[in-house]
Amino acid sequence: MTVNGPDAKSGRARSGGAGWVLVLNSGSSSVKYQLIDMADGSRQAAGLVERIGERTSRLVHTGHGGDGRRPQRRETEEPFPDHTAALKAVAAELAADGMGLDSPRLAAIGHRVVHGGTRFTDPALIDDEVLAEIERLVPLAPLHNPANLTGIRTALALRPALPQVAVFDTAFHATMPEHAWRYAVDTATADRHRIRRYGFHGTSHAFVSRRTAGLLGRDIGEVNVIVLHLGNGASAAAVAGGRCVETSMGLTPLEGLVMGTRSGDIDPAVVFHLARVAGMTTGEIDELLNKRSGLAGLCGDNDMREIRRRIEAGGPDGERARLAFDIYIHRLRKYIGAYAVVLGRVDAIAFTAGVGENDPQVRRAAVAGLDQTIGAALDTERNAESSTRARLISPEYARVAVAVVPTDEELEIAAQTYELVTR
Ligand code: ADP
Repeated sequence: MTVNGPDAKSGRARSGGAGWVLVLNSGSSSVKYQLIDMADGSRQAAGLVERIGERTSRLVHTGHGGDGRRPQRRETEEPFPDHTAALKAVAAELAADGMGLDSPRLAAIGHRVVHGGTRFTDPALIDDEVLAEIERLVPLAPLHNPANLTGIRTALALRPALPQVAVFDTAFHATMPEHAWRYAVDTATADRHRIRRYGFHGTSHAFVSRRTAGLLGRDIGEVNVIVLHLGNGASAAAVAGGRCVETSMGLTPLEGLVMGTRSGDIDPAVVFHLARVAGMTTGEIDELLNKRSGLAGLCGDNDMREIRRRIEAGGPDGERARLAFDIYIHRLRKYIGAYAVVLGRVDAIAFTAGVGENDPQVRRAAVAGLDQTIGAALDTERNAESSTRARLISPEYARVAVAVVPTDEELEIAAQTYELVTR
């Protein structure tokens, strides 16, 4: 899947006739959107509605007026009681820029949907049956899928005749072999409750692995990449010839790497222990491991910039931050090692998302000494360079290249949507 997304070499969407795609990412109290011109991948408009359902909501819209004029930013504060009100306001902003939902240039709306279960291994054109299936997956993603559904239903009500496509965070990982996705848990119980590893951040892993192959000047089909998506949520993926063979997140986005506020891997017996010994409820343990663990649980900060500032300042406070950093890096290196073995041959390690794109120290610590083992090395100057370009940061001689690739999930969603509706 996703072979026909943004072009591997340029990172831009393939042209195929004029057409815009509106990408919607609906959260429980927010909607993010981008209007993308598929001729060249350029953003015609982008924005965000926050605090939907609260006393004051905020809409920040930036639009180019559809004809390449200088972007204009408008900010509105008013109460949007629900997603319908919020999306109507977004539609009005787009219309004010001459790019309303009724524009003939709008080819489709692409929706980010977090959980596609085992059914959705590709983007899906939305109809009643697809909506029902996304609804059936709500128990697997109780916070995300309902919000995604609300966004879809609202958009459908506003433009019923326009093709709308669901692009799933889990889909890219559907190619994992069963020995990677199955937990070693009683099979009947696991299957009855749909317990298995699904993986998340798939849209990002797909985009970044393909873009990395482009940086190497090679076809994605012949390149093996370890992608490290290090944002507030973090996950690693082993991608062999464009197909995901292993990823670090599991049934939920809690498994795997140390994250901003999530623990990542722990012994599951910690949960029973907390219930028996500390008398905590499942809700409290859920909150502890998802919201009060990870970097935040270890040192009180989940922002890597602040953690590094504290390390540099030194003292006992710096020591605490240093330990959090070391635990984060240790876990990351364990995954790099494991995925190198899973892949057999690694061509590149790609860093992406907030930390991966911006923090040279994290990259340096993650790759330190790997020239002796798997053959990955960093060029100190290239690593230190501050840039928003996708680029290689390894020296020419390195057997395994290291890349920094700014992720672009919206462009990937738009490309997959456009590909499906123009097929
Ligand atoms: P998400 O989409 O998961 O919310 P992002 O990919 O936007 O996360 O990443 C956010 C995180 O990126 C922040 O919490 C911070 O730790 C990190 N980050 C952002 N900018 C920098 C920077 N310049 N240096 C180090 N870390 C950064």
